[in-house]
Amino acid sequence: MIKSLHKRESELANSKRQLEILSNGIFQKGALPTFKEKISETNQFPLKAKKLEILQINVGYMCNQVCSHCHVDAGPDRKEIMTRETMQQCLDVIKTTGAHTLDLTGGAPEMNPDFRWFVEEASKVGIKDFIVRSNLTIITANKKYHDLPEFFKKHNVHVVSSMPHWTKGKTDKQRGDGVFNASIEALKMLNAVGYGMPESNLRLDLVYNPSGAFLPSNQKSMEKDFKKGLLEEFNVQFHNLFAITNLPISRFLDYLIASENYEDYMYNLVEAYNPSAVKNVMCTNTLSVSWNGFLYDCDFNQMLELPVNSKAKHISDYNEDLLEGRNIVISQHCYGCTAGAGSSCQGSVI
Ligand code: SF4
Ligand code: SF4
Repeated sequence: MIKSLHKRESELANSKRQLEILSNGIFQKGALPTFKEKISETNQFPLKAKKLEILQINVGYMCNQVCSHCHVDAGPDRKEIMTRETMQQCLDVIKTTGAHTLDLTGGAPEMNPDFRWFVEEASKVGIKDFIVRSNLTIITANKKYHDLPEFFKKHNVHVVSSMPHWTKGKTDKQRGDGVFNASIEALKMLNAVGYGMPESNLRLDLVYNPSGAFLPSNQKSMEKDFKKGLLEEFNVQFHNLFAITNLPISRFLDYLIASENYEDYMYNLVEAYNPSAVKNVMCTNTLSVSWNGFLYDCDFNQMLELPVNSKAKHISDYNEDLLEGRNIVISQHCYGCTAGAGSSCQGSVI
């Protein structure tokens, strides 16, 4: 108990430290405009939440991988896991909202002991798009996960998986040795039950994010390259590629600072700022629920411990009237969502 309290305190201190980095330095010196100043230029401040369309639930930070860019700081030693009671509170909300998409994330969500129960219950609610963010390697990591492709199929889950590149070197550099081969094996298992095949309704999408301090290039042209590379080299198929910008938070922010790339990266994000992406940033129609049930405007704010600006702070207090129209909590990391074609958990926003 004391150990976990200390851990929580050190996480809060880390979020505070990261927020200070994002608020001070180049932004405090006025070298770059703050995100608030930037969006005010086009009268888009304050950012307002619209009707809830996507409920994104983080069922725990435990993961079988420790990727260098991970914004959740997930790994095998993380013990934060959503309980069945909190899952039930989420289900109660899903039944009452008009949200069309449910998005389960982690860590590796499959490692939550109640994951399968939750998927079974949630799939009965009749949500239109039920996403599970699977890191692929979990499918091959242990015999007990080998039936996941069949399980996903049974519940008509839309599988969205990270795949930094269609070559081994670039993938293993970002996600760890052996990840590429395990991911290819998992993709073949998903293809074998119908996921990702051209005429199939079993959706399999991949997520690309850059392996260093640079922005993703055009999503459509990368998708073409990925499709060609994976099909020709490995006979693997998938539907869409989502290109995501790495936000300067968590492990990636630490990497930027350690590699002395932080300022250059922020300059690049600000230079690539696209005012038309602002109206489509995902926090305007999404709500993020943390493993312990607290509500955030997005997964990134969750990691920075920036709770929603509303009296309804927990999934058990969910109240559409209080949450719709709330002012979204922003900071300089938000530049990651408005660079170029914009970025969200579903890829480009333009
Ligand atoms: S697989 Fe995903 S959640 Fe796990 S460490 Fe990698 S980026 Fe983080
Ligand atoms: S980081 Fe979160 S709050 Fe900021 S613009 Fe992106 S989705 Fe919205």
